[in-house]
Amino acid sequence: DTVPANVKVGTVAAKSKGAPNLYGSFIHSAPGAFLASKLGLPQPAELRRYKAGEPALPGPVLLGGKGRLAEPIRALLTDYTIADSLESGTKYGALVFDATGIDSIEKLEQLFEFFQPAMRNIAPSGRVVVLGSTPELVGSVDEQIAQRALEGFTRSVAKELLRGATAQLVYVHPEAGSSATGVESTLRFLLSAKSAFVDGQVIRVGKAESVAPASWDKPLAGKVAVVTGAARGIGATIAEVFARDGATVIVADIPAAGEALSETANKVGATALALDVTAPDAAERLAEFATERFGGIDIVVHNAGITRDKLLANMDEGRWNSVINVNLAAPHRITSGLVAKGVLKEGGRVIDVSSIAGIAGNRGQTNYGASKAGVIGMVDAEAPLLSEKGITINAVAPGFIETAMTAAIPVGTREAGRLMSSLLQGGQTVDVAETIAYFASPASNAVSGNVVRVCGQSLIGA
Ligand code: NAD
Repeated sequence: DTVPANVKVGTVAAKSKGAPNLYGSFIHSAPGAFLASKLGLPQPAELRRYKAGEPALPGPVLLGGKGRLAEPIRALLTDYTIADSLESGTKYGALVFDATGIDSIEKLEQLFEFFQPAMRNIAPSGRVVVLGSTPELVGSVDEQIAQRALEGFTRSVAKELLRGATAQLVYVHPEAGSSATGVESTLRFLLSAKSAFVDGQVIRVGKAESVAPASWDKPLAGKVAVVTGAARGIGATIAEVFARDGATVIVADIPAAGEALSETANKVGATALALDVTAPDAAERLAEFATERFGGIDIVVHNAGITRDKLLANMDEGRWNSVINVNLAAPHRITSGLVAKGVLKEGGRVIDVSSIAGIAGNRGQTNYGASKAGVIGMVDAEAPLLSEKGITINAVAPGFIETAMTAAIPVGTREAGRLMSSLLQGGQTVDVAETIAYFASPASNAVSGNVVRVCGQSLIGA
């Protein structure tokens, strides 16, 4: 490590598996913290992350708003401490506002009335969640305008929050049942430390009812999950989180990564499969392997991905094709193959891995940007088709995550990548994995067609 022995390394730096976090280490050192407070430099907070047995939130939930969801939510979140009125001395673990009653521009004032006095009462790593009705589906022009306004409000709140607190908007289908069970998995994810690096996001929840798992700590019990590119990095952590959540996990990676793949498999108690996702018979091999050993597949995560960066003017065909093939063509072909064979079962889950480079574009990444934007197209196009079979498809779009991939970025760009976000730091692989586990949950059956960025509200592509 390049951090000098006399500098006290902060947790943010100590936790990162990638390259040394120069700014993070400096700002958490005694002289760094002193200088930062004098100069008003941004200070990344240590984000609260999930630990079994710890409370979901760092304080009670303040619940407001008079829409159709507030009372059902109170009935669902019985294990949370819920308060109805603001106490000036209290730090809340979350502010949850049911904005579904806002059906006109005038009523937007309700946001101001609820949030303005409470903004200084949010605990470190606290949560703001605004619940609305999907604007395109509501009854009137006035209501559509008002509901769409929630997005700008929530994203701006996210940019104002300090000390690791985050804000998200959840749009719920106007025809969702009166008990709103379909929204529970989303709320429990957002109102927990599992969503540490998800910030300023909009999630859409459909009208289907959901059944709570026997245990929210083991939501994937009895499920068979496949994770591609799982030898290392984000994929290895997805396998670990899936196993923690009770799934039987198959980890797949290219034969050349065999040693690392076996290590990951042993560490998390998974079964290893040497598989190049671009092989023409990849879907067949995976289907056969999973069917023979486990009787089928419930969850598939297309995590395998590569970069082959060059300015387009200097790019060769090999770089172009390999990135499109691994990142886009392979996941599309494998999903289609598994569905056609019925190996991906009724109630199945497909989770793709996009990137903020697929949203914003990135210099030197025309191939990668195309592939990762194509992944978003895949989610859009396949969601309605798969829903007929009770299968959901969603994607995560990671921002700057501390892995071997980002450690290879030149130092200046790397430090900028970490700092240019509302949370002022890079994310950990576990942050991406927790978001994927939320999509994978059987209780997320009403969640399909979403792309959720795991980027700390990165300014890139915002
Ligand atoms: P990584 O390079 O550490 O791991 C990728 C894994 O995929 C490797 O183990 C590799 O062997 C495997 N792989 C490559 N080609 C394969 C193939 N043809 N068949 C099977 N496996 C193959 O990368 P990572 O940072 O963990 O990234 C994982 C995913 O997240 C990728 O899709 C990447 O594009 C995406 N992503 C990462 C970041 C980040 O900041 N690290 C940001 C945005 C998106």
